[in-house]
Amino acid sequence: MNSIEALIGLQETDGLIRDLEREAKDLPRRKAQENARLKGVTAAVEIAKSQLEALRVRIRETEEDASASRQRVKELKTQQATSNSNKEYQQLLAAIEGLEHEADAADARGFALTEDELPRLERQLNEAEAKLAAERGGVDGFCDELEGRLAEVKAELDRLAEERKAKAALVPPKSLLYYERLRTKRWPVVVTLNADAVCEGCHLKVPPSTEQMVEHKMELVACTNCGRLLYRDL
Ligand SMILES: [Zn+2]
Repeated sequence: MNSIEALIGLQETDGLIRDLEREAKDLPRRKAQENARLKGVTAAVEIAKSQLEALRVRIRETEEDASASRQRVKELKTQQATSNSNKEYQQLLAAIEGLEHEADAADARGFALTEDELPRLERQLNEAEAKLAAERGGVDGFCDELEGRLAEVKAELDRLAEERKAKAALVPPKSLLYYERLRTKRWPVVVTLNADAVCEGCHLKVPPSTEQMVEHKMELVACTNCGRLLYRDL
């Protein structure tokens, strides 16, 4: 095995490692996204709950308004019974009628809220809760899958680290050093020089002298433009 073959073998393993490292980075991000989405659904439930609670307060207020007016009517009626002036009697009568009207109006408001608004908000809450339950199940399942995959990826990365060591040991030190330096800046590092003498890494043509060196399978021929290591037909 010459050094370019050994490098191609090493590059293969490095390619797998790069993909898996990217995936390992991406998995927690996807999990966080899922949980953020769930937070949105939870917020919808909280909003629906507070709207329903506010409506219940308003309904209670109409009941209190009606009962306060009726209490006042009772008091005025007692006063009316002991009244001995016709003028006062008529004034009390008008006040009583006005209060009875107010009590009826409060009842009507409460009735409308109870009949129309209440079922609508209760339905809204039920729907939000059902959606949350469904989403939570989905998200939990999905997050478990992501966790499982992350464990697989980590195990595979451990295995590949060993494989990489073995493959790197096959590459002559000088070639390895060149490869290691370049791979932080360029990927892939080892590429073919095509029939038109174009580097498959940077897509530029190399000079004939460089092409000849590749043709003669000299060790470590670098692209004159990008520095990648070139080979042709192993
Ligand atoms: Zn190049």
